[in-house]
Amino acid sequence: MTISAEGCDVLVLGGGPAGSSLAAVLAENGWHVEVWEKDPHPRFHIGESLLPLTLPYLQQLGVLEEVERIGLQKFGAELVSPVHDEPITLYFSGAMDKTHPYAFQVRRSEFDNILLQNCQRKGAQIHEGFEAKTVDFSDPRLAIVYGKNAQGISISRQARFVVDATGRQAFLANQFQAKQRNRHHNSASVFGHFEGVVRHADKDEGNLTICWFDHGWFWIIPLPDGPTSVGMVCWPPYLKSRTNTLEDFFWQTVQSSPHMAHRMKQAKAVMPIVATGNYSYQSTIMTGQNFILVGDAFAFVDPILSSGVHLALHSGIRGADVVEAFLQGHPEAEQKARDFEAAVKHGLKMYSWFIFRITQPAFRNLAMAPKNYFRMHEAISSVLSGDIFGSTPVKFPLIIFKGVYYLTALLDLKANLGQYRRRKHAVEGEPLSS
Ligand SMILES: Cc1cc2nc3c(=O)[nH]c(=O)nc-3n(C[C@H](O)[C@H](O)[C@H](O)COP(=O)(O)OP(=O)(O)OC[C@H]3O[C@@H](n4cnc5c(N)ncnc54)[C@H](O)[C@@H]3O)c2cc1C
Repeated sequence: MTISAEGCDVLVLGGGPAGSSLAAVLAENGWHVEVWEKDPHPRFHIGESLLPLTLPYLQQLGVLEEVERIGLQKFGAELVSPVHDEPITLYFSGAMDKTHPYAFQVRRSEFDNILLQNCQRKGAQIHEGFEAKTVDFSDPRLAIVYGKNAQGISISRQARFVVDATGRQAFLANQFQAKQRNRHHNSASVFGHFEGVVRHADKDEGNLTICWFDHGWFWIIPLPDGPTSVGMVCWPPYLKSRTNTLEDFFWQTVQSSPHMAHRMKQAKAVMPIVATGNYSYQSTIMTGQNFILVGDAFAFVDPILSSGVHLALHSGIRGADVVEAFLQGHPEAEQKARDFEAAVKHGLKMYSWFIFRITQPAFRNLAMAPKNYFRMHEAISSVLSGDIFGSTPVKFPLIIFKGVYYLTALLDLKANLGQYRRRKHAVEGEPLSS
């Protein structure tokens, strides 16, 4: 085991979007930052669809032009419902703030590598193949992180501040036994990359498609130069009901949806189809005197609104301010940490309201026939664009939308209550009564 004599200021665990963005800001400000990343980049990661309001973060980090070069423009999201005749497309240009009409679809291997290389350029030291195993916080002035490198050799490093950006591994939340399953949500996904998926023409080529089916929903994310990311998100009992191979189960579910069957009729997988439990969770602890949890390491809800990278960059960039305040012994450090926690939780709460209701008939009916009374539609488009942390006045129109949603649900109580109960059984892990 090697214990280095001198510590660094900040040891970031995980080189995904949250860790790399935080490391870039702090390294640029002159702090001695090191990043331990378990998997050498570029490496595969799911989650290729970005939001328009992520672009200002990329600009702030100085990587927007690089991302533009590897991205396919995405102007909106197409919604396909099995009980509505025609799909509809919600365009980001319909949002309240018209200055961000598009986002990008990216291969995460390339995108995450750009972010990691960027923080290295700004002075952070990157150690790929280094996996954190445990942190000793017994000395409040200097934490010791223990782990192993790619050769399996035990390693350790002292740091004044430890950042957990390990994504859904939720390293510190697990160590603190602070990781709690989300009582309101639970889902699983099966996905892969495919050649030959039918795309839309021209400006709509890069749009995301969300297609509901009986047990959940599919995504179609066209990637630059041909391949397409396709996945299904379903309640865990549906995945557990599988009696064939994962691949056959995936294709069988594709065939159950006329829209998906059409889009995938010539498609061939270019990677093995894999399954992952999304198991929504949140940590009960986010910050302390010498640690912070950012991105998925703190919480993960569901991928339907493509909000994961946006929230990860938001918490990485804002989290850097909190870390800096603690390192400087700033009198406001604890207040900054509380403000940070409130902002992160606001983002999660904002998206969770939609995620919990997105499979309800009332929600689907409203989504498929958008109305802009009291700027409701603009507010929804703003949320879908990621415009939830600034001063755009989405609050009042969203209250109206929520009121309309509850009223619509009441008017068709039987269908909505039935779906609510089905979902509740599925979330709580009980078998479907169907
Ligand atoms: C099925 C699915 C689909 C999704 N689709 C989208 C989408 O379309 N758009 C979107 O924005 N988001 C999507 N997401 C969510 C998105 O992928 C994540 O929210 C985002 O990657 C979070 O970034 P992060 O930096 O917090 O974590 P990650 O990107 O997961 O990065 C964590 C890094 O930490 C490293 N690591 C883990 N443990 C250790 C350790 N012990 N020591 C050192 N390193 C470690 C990992 O190797 C990894 O590189 C999706 C998620 C799922 C599950």
